[in-house]
Amino acid sequence: MKSAVKSLCLLCVLCGPVLCFSLDREAFAITNYDLNVRVEPEQHRLGVRGKISLRNDTPTPQKIAVLQISSSLDWRAIRAADKMLQFVTQPYTSDIDHTGSLSEAIVTLPQEIAPHATIDLDIAYEGVVLLDATRLTRIGTPENSAKSSDWDQIDEKFTGLRGVGYVAWYPIATEVANLSEGNTLFEVLARWKTREAASQMEVSFQDPNLTSDSVTSTMLCNGKGIRGGTREGTGRFQWARCSYGDLAHSAPTFVIAGYGVVDRPSNAVFNFSGHGVAAEAYADEAERVAPLIADWFGSPREKTQTADLPDASAAPFESGAFLMTPVANFAAKVAGLTAAHQLTHASVVSFRPWIEEGLAHFAQALYLENQKGRQAALDYMGAHRSALGTAPRSEDEAKQSLLDTTNEELYRSKAMCVWWMLRDMISDSALKKAIASYKAEQDKDPSYMPRLIAAQTQRDLEWFFDDWVYHDRGLPDFKVESAFAASTPIKSFMLTITLDNLGTAGAEVPVTIKFAGGDVTKRIEVRSKSKATFRVETPTAPKEIRVNDGSVPESDFANNNFKIPETAK
Ligand SMILES: [Zn+2]
Repeated sequence: MKSAVKSLCLLCVLCGPVLCFSLDREAFAITNYDLNVRVEPEQHRLGVRGKISLRNDTPTPQKIAVLQISSSLDWRAIRAADKMLQFVTQPYTSDIDHTGSLSEAIVTLPQEIAPHATIDLDIAYEGVVLLDATRLTRIGTPENSAKSSDWDQIDEKFTGLRGVGYVAWYPIATEVANLSEGNTLFEVLARWKTREAASQMEVSFQDPNLTSDSVTSTMLCNGKGIRGGTREGTGRFQWARCSYGDLAHSAPTFVIAGYGVVDRPSNAVFNFSGHGVAAEAYADEAERVAPLIADWFGSPREKTQTADLPDASAAPFESGAFLMTPVANFAAKVAGLTAAHQLTHASVVSFRPWIEEGLAHFAQALYLENQKGRQAALDYMGAHRSALGTAPRSEDEAKQSLLDTTNEELYRSKAMCVWWMLRDMISDSALKKAIASYKAEQDKDPSYMPRLIAAQTQRDLEWFFDDWVYHDRGLPDFKVESAFAASTPIKSFMLTITLDNLGTAGAEVPVTIKFAGGDVTKRIEVRSKSKATFRVETPTAPKEIRVNDGSVPESDFANNNFKIPETAK
């Protein structure tokens, strides 16, 4: 091995630019992982043996493959068909890993791999994974908040490793990601996940603490099909196997800790000792919220799982219905909101964030409405959409559409508002039917969900989807242009209102007319840069018009009230 290292390094010196700059780190995708992971919590150690399959994703044959793992791990062996392969290792600075660096193996393959062809490799690597927030602290993040964000580690009390984007505990192959250079981390991650879309990952975990008589650790993961020798009921395994799917949208994650568990029909909360009361409170609140969520989004496909984090200020991490969060911190106020979100993920699965995350946030607004009335839900949405009007707009409108945006503000907050508007426009029952008919496996094109919604109503909603889903047309801006009241022969008043939408997106907006002794509300559809004129009859003289109760995001709420002058009566 040493001579190989030497000669390759010599090559580096002689023709550095040729070797080092022509290295295509993203040439291969890893289409299959079959890994055996041995965890030694006391030593903070991880030892991995296994098999991976590489696929050449380039149009040219490749003789060199790059494999990367976290910089705190070391490559031990790489083989192809029982033949030891020569490889050079080097540190590779990249913020895709919490340590801010990767251990890179530059592997000389036994033969050139043709485009689309694959090769199987046997691999071995090991090392320690300690709490490490280097990638954040070196760009100036205060140490405490950096550690609350990058909390992954192997430790006796708590072992929790999130995959790509946090800790490269399994091999990846990526170009450099730099947190101080705009969006590169996000882009590199997105490219990797796209290449991994159809990949499979099977991992067997072994931990001496899981088999020791004195320790009862629990092993959890965000994949499917954990099985193993259980003892003392569910959730405790002497060994466990996790089958991770949908690598395009989730980072393979596992947790091993000495948890207790609060088990309820809809959810299980795994908690550290001392957090049992908080865990029960959350589990019970989730039980109370579950019927509302099932009514809107259908029966859950799985039980939600919540795993406790030891650092009370640790940032939560969610992967579908699997949530890692400091359980002790669940304030009564947020428990219901969190449960509504998590339970929705257990009912609706979609690879489209505006559906998966948008609906989970919409569920939070529904929960508040259910608890405290419509105004509480509108206030909640109002607080979350404040950034929508000022969100930076990309030159290419399509890139910012709800369908393929990577901007969380859009696929979370804006999507929540879109679902709420749809519900107001087509009725709760129609929207529930549309959601019930959604099947992720049939979601082959972006118009699938809009078509399911359109099928539940007689209304033409194409303009709405055009403005809010297929494109980012910005927001509406409503203004009453004029209002004239005239008394009618039957002693009531006929008010003629012209409502202007100065904004760039159309919407249906509630308009409330106040008169002595009451008010009346009408819902009016106004397309972008358009006007709508309509009439409202009131029993006494109309006094004031109020446009938009807050259910429609708008760029300017200051011009929404209109006082009807006395002379107009
Ligand atoms: Zn979510």
